[in-house]
Amino acid sequence: MTPEQVRALLEDSGALQKGHFRLSSGRHSDLYVQKFRVFERPDATRALGAALADLFDFAAVVSPAVGAVVLGFSVALARGARSVFAERVHGELKLRRGFTLGAGERVLVVEDVVTTGASAREVVELAKGWGADVVGVGALLDRSEGEVELGAPLSSLLRLEATSWEPEACPLCAAGTPLEDPGSRRL
Ligand SMILES: [Zn+2]
Repeated sequence: MTPEQVRALLEDSGALQKGHFRLSSGRHSDLYVQKFRVFERPDATRALGAALADLFDFAAVVSPAVGAVVLGFSVALARGARSVFAERVHGELKLRRGFTLGAGERVLVVEDVVTTGASAREVVELAKGWGADVVGVGALLDRSEGEVELGAPLSSLLRLEATSWEPEACPLCAAGTPLEDPGSRRL
C-alpha cells in the first residue's frame, strides 16, 4: 500500500479526522486520530497488517496492549508468525499469560501510532531482555517529530507531520473555526 492509499483508508473509516480539535494534552490540532475506527474493520486491518508484514523479516510479533494488539495480530497473520502482546503490570510492560520470546528469535515490535515512541521503545527493550533479535518497529502511523530512538529501526505505513499548537497560537482559533473535544465525545 502506498502512503496515499493508507491515508485514504484512514480518512474513509474515520480513523483520521480533519477539523479543529482539543487534544488530551490541551494543545489544539487540525487532525485527530481514532485508530479503532479502522481497527474495528477486519478487512482494512488485514490489509494494513499485510502491508506492514512486507517491510520486515520476522518469526514473531510483540505489541503493547491494548491499542496495538489487533494490528499486531494482523501483521502476524499475514506472515504465519506468532503474535504475543505486552501488558502493563504496576506501570511496566511485561509478557503475561505464558507468552515467551525465544533467544535469537526474529521479533518485530508492532505499534499503532508512534508519537514519543515511549511504549515501542519499552517493548523493544522487553524483547531484547528475552534475548530476541529485534528486527524493527512496524507502525501504522509515525507522528514523531524528528528522529525518535527506539532501539530498533522504525518503518511506518504513513508519516503524519505533527500539527498542534498552544491555544493562544492556534491559527484555527484565530480563524474562528469551532473547536471539537474528541476526548469528551469518546466518554
Ligand atoms: Zn484552536
